[in-house]
Amino acid sequence: MGAIVANDEYIRTLSYAEKAMGLLKRGEIPAYPQFYELFFTYSTGVNPGLNERINSIMGDGVPRIEIVESLYNEFLKSDAIDERVNVVSDLMSKNINSVQEAIQSASKTADSYTGDLEQAEEAFAKETNAETLGMITKQLLLKTKIMQEANAALEGQLNSAQDNVSQLKRDLEEVQRQSMTDSLTNIYNRKFFDLHITRAITSARQNREPLCLVMSDIDHFKSFNDTFGHQTGDQVLRLVAMTLRSNTKGSDLACRYGGEEFALILPNTRLEDAVSLANTIRKAIQAKELLKRSTNEKLGRVTASFGVSMLNGSDNEITLIERADRALYAAKRSGRNRVIAENDKALQISSAA
Ligand code: GH3
Ligand code: MG
Ligand code: MG
Repeated sequence: MGAIVANDEYIRTLSYAEKAMGLLKRGEIPAYPQFYELFFTYSTGVNPGLNERINSIMGDGVPRIEIVESLYNEFLKSDAIDERVNVVSDLMSKNINSVQEAIQSASKTADSYTGDLEQAEEAFAKETNAETLGMITKQLLLKTKIMQEANAALEGQLNSAQDNVSQLKRDLEEVQRQSMTDSLTNIYNRKFFDLHITRAITSARQNREPLCLVMSDIDHFKSFNDTFGHQTGDQVLRLVAMTLRSNTKGSDLACRYGGEEFALILPNTRLEDAVSLANTIRKAIQAKELLKRSTNEKLGRVTASFGVSMLNGSDNEITLIERADRALYAAKRSGRNRVIAENDKALQISSAA
């Protein structure tokens, strides 16, 4: 029975492996473990988000290596981070166990020393023979020395545990930072956005403050990639991310929402101020003339479109995002490179169309 299951498993996984290898070959992508893993996962279909993205890119061929790398980082690398969190927490609990053991053994030594002291006290009260008293004193000194050594050992163990804990704390903070960061652009990632938007809504309601959301999408980015290559496309993503970050401050939060989409969560900001900030960012992106690093070749300019929504009394994160998205869609429909707010009349035109 076991053999039949194993054989089935063998045939099933081999067909995924063959499909993955076929895709690597077709795209002339190096069969590094992480790229193989990406296409193996794609072949199994267990990660619908990943499949949807690959399918949308695949239209006329296997995605190129740069895209494959960023897809791996986006969809699979977070598992590696979870694993690292597990490693750190394993080390932490081992450390705690060894401290507990050290304390238990030191407390046993202390108990037995207390017993020794009591016995010696009784002996001193009864005994008159100088030689016997001398022997008891000698033994007592010996036991005191053992006790001192045990104390010193405990102190050493506690000190090194303290060092370990400080190092582990730093590791944990670094892993946490990485798990919230998009590796390509170094701003917050989608996972963090999802967590933060809920918190921002709760806190806006508690403090009776306005809250705005800006969704942004680079215009005609596919054709930019097709013309200049994905690596240059990635540079543009970094540039847009930097522009968002340098124009936001305090409790504002800029993040990469997906491929070439970005989001800004703006606490304590009214709709008109969010629109004005989005326009500042839009102009800053448009103002940058792009040069190819290697050749100094002029690549022209990129623009982005923006949709803005403001939290209302009946909103949740989904409806707030939906309205910003709808405004963004209207900005695309009305010509791109513009900011549209949820109350803009272009929105009625766009939804009527
Ligand atoms: P629109 O103005 O309507 O937004 O057009 P668009 O071409 O920007 O939109 P579309 O959704 O058709 O294409 C988005 C493209 O973004 C597809 C893909 O090539 C590119 N893209 C997505 N993620 C990445 C990435 O991580 N790096 C690079 N270089 N390109 C990416
Ligand atoms: Mg898009
Ligand atoms: Mg786009």
